[in-house]
Amino acid sequence: MFDCVKREIRPSADQAGYLSKCFGHTRWYWNYLVDCGKSKVRAKSYADLKQEGFDWLSEIPAQALANAKLHYQQAWKNVRTHTAPPTFHSRRGRQSFTVCCQGESWLQGNLVFVPKLKSGMRIMGEAMPNKGVLKSAACSLEPDGKYYAPFLFDCANPEPLPHTDKKIGLDVGIETFCTTSDGEKIKLPNLKDKEQKAIREQKRLSRKAKGGKNRRKQKIKLARAHKAVGGARRDFQRKLSKKITDENQVIVIEGLATKNMLKNHRLARAIARQGWRQFAGMLQYKAERKGRTLVKAGRWHPSSRICSACGSRGTRKPLSVRVWQCLDCGAIHDRDINAAINILTAGTAGIAC
Ligand SMILES: [Zn+2]
Repeated sequence: MFDCVKREIRPSADQAGYLSKCFGHTRWYWNYLVDCGKSKVRAKSYADLKQEGFDWLSEIPAQALANAKLHYQQAWKNVRTHTAPPTFHSRRGRQSFTVCCQGESWLQGNLVFVPKLKSGMRIMGEAMPNKGVLKSAACSLEPDGKYYAPFLFDCANPEPLPHTDKKIGLDVGIETFCTTSDGEKIKLPNLKDKEQKAIREQKRLSRKAKGGKNRRKQKIKLARAHKAVGGARRDFQRKLSKKITDENQVIVIEGLATKNMLKNHRLARAIARQGWRQFAGMLQYKAERKGRTLVKAGRWHPSSRICSACGSRGTRKPLSVRVWQCLDCGAIHDRDINAAINILTAGTAGIAC
């Protein structure tokens, strides 16, 4: 199993200079590959380039260039399924490079030793956990002006949690983040203050002169404000997905693009969807690690039309109808809780557990 730990690192001025070289050379090589691809010329390997006058490429670890090439090839593979072709990288915005650790020990306490850099860079936060064999490390300079390093570990598979009989269905909402089949309505934490701050910083940015130093500083402030919003949302999702996967053996969620969402205003849908996709991803990997089963109910399952008590299929209900009564059995349903129960039933119908 692979596990990733992402930490902020604080390089000294000299180290930052070396990192900026790594970013720059890697970006140059990436853009060279993109350029060759665009003009349909066969790209040379970096080893050949080094011999042909681009000897400055040797200033940085060869692995960074090798990984740039790997990422470039992967980007083209992704085109077949879902993405646009790779494009040029800008020297503004996020910068990164990746190096592989081949059995060497790079981590010493809270210092990381990158190839060709003699001194260790300081890793912030608590002591680095000993998760297993370090496979690779990347380094990035993000728009908030800080350096980060995600460390990828190859570690032993965790023991699955003891079996439980509890099952849960989750229904996505716009107002409530999700409703469980147990009747619990879970709300997103209040992010208004953080969101307002991001809006304020955006306004301030628009008043700064283009190309000026103050604009650059303001951009960092804006990126930090945005990061705070995303961080708070992720924190909430992490805690919730941990709780759900700890307590339940089978978790049933709605497939994406549900009818409820399609009926909504575009923007609201996009926002809810974005959060939901991330959350579903967390449920997925946590379920796998804990030996739980995650089921995705059909995309077009009419979860809000079926009565969860008698199973009769009612008429289509506008989203404003929050509570309704079944015409056949007379049961009174909360729209979201009923949908969550239906999702659970639909998801567990096919599997024996
Ligand atoms: Zn009914």
